[in-house]
Amino acid sequence: MADEDDKVALVDLDGSIVDYDKVMKQELEKLRHPDEPPVVDRYMNREQVEAKEAPHLEARRKLIQAKPGFWRTLPKHPLGFEIIEDLRHLGFLLHVLTKGPGATAGAWTEKYEWCRDNLPDAEVTVTQNKALSYGRVLVDDWPPYFLPWLKHRPRGQVVCVAQPWNVEYATGSHSQVFRYDGTNRTELRMRLHQAFNRPARGE
Ligand SMILES: [Mg+2]
Repeated sequence: MADEDDKVALVDLDGSIVDYDKVMKQELEKLRHPDEPPVVDRYMNREQVEAKEAPHLEARRKLIQAKPGFWRTLPKHPLGFEIIEDLRHLGFLLHVLTKGPGATAGAWTEKYEWCRDNLPDAEVTVTQNKALSYGRVLVDDWPPYFLPWLKHRPRGQVVCVAQPWNVEYATGSHSQVFRYDGTNRTELRMRLHQAFNRPARGE
């Protein structure tokens, strides 16, 4: 593999560079009966993410997602795009890495269109197993995806986009996981610079 081809940064969509939760919260609020409690942030921690969603809320969420244009028009997540800006500046090759296609018909096509519109310089890879993809850097908000990836990439650098469900990585307890929350951009740039310049495999 040529040296420049090896400078790949893998980038997750929802929760990392796409602000799914902001739109979903607004849309769920529109469907709320006045007697129901206000819609709060869907997930405040890992336990809530992994808990079973109430059936009526799951049905509403799927209905919202099935509306044509939902995935294609989701807003950019500003924190994620600060990371994208720094990756581009260094010269990383951007590869969007997303799980799909999901249960919602048309979701994958729209996710692809979103990438074409918002990240035209990136290649797009659909996978069922993120752990198998090669990259020097992985930008992802979800520990159950980035931890298996690190097992396969002992020299890899994870940039974890700050979300309520990954606060345990704020302490820097895992040496290869850097949680970016918008206040620590100097360290973000240093980590990315190191990942870009480390020797290629076999050197
Ligand atoms: Mg994600």
